[in-house]
Amino acid sequence: MHILLMGPPGAGKGTQAANLVKELGVPHISTGDMFRAAVKEGTELGKQAKACMDAGKLVPDEVTIGIVRERLAKDDCKKGFILDGFPRTVEQADALNGILKELGLALKRVLNINVPAADLVERAVGRRICKKCGATYHVSFNPTKKEGVCDDCGGELYQRADDTKETMENRLSVYEASTRPLIEYYEKAGIYTEVDGRQPINQVTRELLQALNA
Ligand code: ADP
Ligand code: AMP
Repeated sequence: MHILLMGPPGAGKGTQAANLVKELGVPHISTGDMFRAAVKEGTELGKQAKACMDAGKLVPDEVTIGIVRERLAKDDCKKGFILDGFPRTVEQADALNGILKELGLALKRVLNINVPAADLVERAVGRRICKKCGATYHVSFNPTKKEGVCDDCGGELYQRADDTKETMENRLSVYEASTRPLIEYYEKAGIYTEVDGRQPINQVTRELLQALNA
């Protein structure tokens, strides 16, 4: 099952992808996670990505499309994937169509998690991530049992460098200008479903799964 998970920054894509992976058994492919891994490794890609990420801007399309092309060609994507955070521009969406065609794959559904802009800064600023296993928490909305420690693996939590109020404001305006137009793009393709992302995490998961089974 090949799925796109869309939504503004902080909408809950990573959180929901983790739940969907458990149900569907397909890989979760997040371009944001791929860039963060490259930053950690200190590669050339990481250096280029870091400058864009810290400013709340998009990494250039040709770079992003290149890493996605490579990842989707791997064998584990044949049975399905949950693509999170890509595409973010119409150019990326067009490129994705080309990549999928080359691979003989097709998107089953585009799931958009809809959360109003007013809620997103608080979600991002309170986000905490496990250094060890990548699980996502929120200091108020989805706290760990013990402060600063992952419930799943006991790893230490960290805060993303771009999860500040200032950077979020840039990321939200980039979303409005470059990514929101993809809603119409996929509506026209007839594979678009929107879910209300203000609901509790498990209810959002239930509705996403319902949309996939419809
Ligand atoms: P994205 O991947 O879309 O940027 P995340 O999944 O990382 O978003 O979620 C952003 C923040 O919002 C995290 O701190 C997460 O715990 C929290 N969050 C996710 N879903 C919900 C929800 N339904 N209600 C409240 N907070 C949520
Ligand atoms: P995310 O983890 O999805 O919130 O992404 C974090 C940052 O990585 C974004 O603010 C961008 O700088 C970069 N990024 C992630 N995905 C893309 C993409 N598809 N196109 C361009 N930049 C991206």
